[in-house]
Amino acid sequence: MAGLGVAWRLAQAGCAVTLFDVATIPAQSGAATWASGGMLCARLEMTGAPAPLAAFALGARAAWPAFAAELDRGAAMACGFVERGALHVSFGRERTGAPGPGVERIDRAAALRLEPGLADDVSEALWAPGEAHVDPRWLALALLHACRMAGVAAEPETRVNRLVEQNGRVTGVLTASGVRAFDHVVLAAGAWSAGLLRVSNLPGPGVRPVKGEMVSFAADPRAMPAARLIWTDACYIIPHADGRVLVGATQVESGFDASLDRDRVDALRDAAIRALPALGGLAELERFAGFRPASDDGLPLLGGVGPEGLTLAGGQFRNGILFAPLVADAAAQHVLQGRLPEIARPFAAGRFTEIAA
Ligand SMILES: Cc1cc2nc3c(=O)[nH]c(=O)nc-3n(C[C@H](O)[C@H](O)[C@H](O)COP(=O)(O)OP(=O)(O)OC[C@H]3O[C@@H](n4cnc5c(N)ncnc54)[C@H](O)[C@@H]3O)c2cc1C
Repeated sequence: MAGLGVAWRLAQAGCAVTLFDVATIPAQSGAATWASGGMLCARLEMTGAPAPLAAFALGARAAWPAFAAELDRGAAMACGFVERGALHVSFGRERTGAPGPGVERIDRAAALRLEPGLADDVSEALWAPGEAHVDPRWLALALLHACRMAGVAAEPETRVNRLVEQNGRVTGVLTASGVRAFDHVVLAAGAWSAGLLRVSNLPGPGVRPVKGEMVSFAADPRAMPAARLIWTDACYIIPHADGRVLVGATQVESGFDASLDRDRVDALRDAAIRALPALGGLAELERFAGFRPASDDGLPLLGGVGPEGLTLAGGQFRNGILFAPLVADAAAQHVLQGRLPEIARPFAAGRFTEIAA
């Protein structure tokens, strides 16, 4: 999805852009975007985050309304962006954590006014009115439509076997049909990005896959069990406009093993039903997993590494959907002007190779 965003921005700037994906676009098997919840939580997700990351999250959240509106126009397709806030509920005698900026503690009655379907033993909640969500699958499809309408040539089911370097400059990519020459290459292969650098004998940061498992329920879109994001200490619940209610997510370090652990996913389902009992009456729709792209310091990886002609757009870990508008702008600016915008500079992908040098 990062690749779609950057491709769209570059095509809008007048570049001839070709987009490769080893799978269908948007990719469904293991790709983080297809498996994502779509939360845009610049507050609840950033508890304890380093200041530059928290600022990036707030900047991205602020960019979302205009990004979604532009995308809706550019793709003639909605991406399911909803600004209704998030509740982090607690049960019985549990206390919710301390409210930070943009978050307030509310009692049970106030929580029920927001979400009448909450369980009987929900005792209080943290209320973050500025949080939002988007349907990540609609988002990816809308970005693909917008890319096509802006002139991007999409080549699905085309694996990039390696990046091609000549005399200190990346000059193209190697696919099964041979070398394809380009003035500039953007590497946005999610959890697979480090592997591509490695097989290309190029320097670069580590990126590892962190599996996230999810489960979804099928609700009647006319009678949703909830309208807004609901968090507990054990899960989060995301109601999407088409009736899919997503529940996530585990965080498992097991390489590229995409298998689903029944007990872990059952635990997510049960935790969600505990908070929102109406979910127990709905059919389970799907269980799925994706690989979050995690850098060695947990921060995004943007801009150049090593040779000229190469830009990274990766390392978004748990928040790549939230970060999408800023990642697209930052990577496009790096391609066009050779530098990152101020807000993205703490995430310069060269930080690891520069330290090593
Ligand atoms: C379960 C789960 C829940 C999440 N929930 C949220 C959330 O609520 N909010 C949020 O902001 N973020 C969330 N995230 C994180 C977010 O989904 C990711 O940070 C983001 O989607 C990463 O996007 P990406 O485009 O970099 O990677 P991906 O979406 O993984 O895309 C990488 C693409 O590269 C392609 N590719 C790989 N190798 C090659 C190759 N050799 N040649 C060609 N193509 C290749 C793949 O097919 C794929 O399409 C979640 C992630 C998971 C797994």
